[in-house]
Amino acid sequence: MLEERIKEVFEIVKDGNNLGEDITVVGASKTMSAEVINSAISCGLKVVAENRVQEFREKSELISPTASQHFIGHLQTNKVKYLVGKVDLIHSVDSLHLAQEIDRVALNKGVKQDVLIEINVGGELSKSGFSLDNALENIEKINLEYKNLCIKGLMAMMPKSDDEKLLTSLFTKMRALYDECNNKGYNFTYLSMGMSNDYKLAIKCGSNMIRLGRTIFGERQ
Ligand SMILES: *Cc1c(COP(=O)(O)O)cnc(C)c1O
Repeated sequence: MLEERIKEVFEIVKDGNNLGEDITVVGASKTMSAEVINSAISCGLKVVAENRVQEFREKSELISPTASQHFIGHLQTNKVKYLVGKVDLIHSVDSLHLAQEIDRVALNKGVKQDVLIEINVGGELSKSGFSLDNALENIEKINLEYKNLCIKGLMAMMPKSDDEKLLTSLFTKMRALYDECNNKGYNFTYLSMGMSNDYKLAIKCGSNMIRLGRTIFGERQ
């Protein structure tokens, strides 16, 4: 049941990651009804997230205001207007063009939008995100040019794999980039990586924000 699953997750993350940092649990609530999402919130889930703008728009007003709402999916520039100022964090800034559009809409609305920069750490053609090679220079550009965005950290989607060695190596690369950014003076607080299949490994490798769908809500229909 929902309550047991949520308790179990919070039990697993209660001591934080390998560095002792607190872990934020983000409930990836795609396909779940607002009712189910609100039950999860009443069981202690504090952050919920959608990956499609349409679904966010259908549900967001129905979600208990005690929870924070994030956006975790690929975002098209023409839909930015539906999210800016309405979500607490956009995890998926994957191009300069998207950063520019979020900045423009945020300026228009008179808000600052918190975001994460998405890194395609596995270098997969099917995934979006900045490549590891030019991540730093792009982060610097976004930080300098788009003042209505506030970069709070990094996000990565891992390749579909159960090769622990491969995943460990990619999670560790992400943590190294995150630390490098903070050493350069960025004030990053979130490293969003780890999903149902691999979150235990992710938090051993320095993740401090995990995005869980099935582990919290059960199998999707
Ligand atoms: C669905 C989703 C998740 C969670 O997936 P599970 O495997 O069900 O935990 C995490 N991140 C994103 C971007 C998603 O769309």
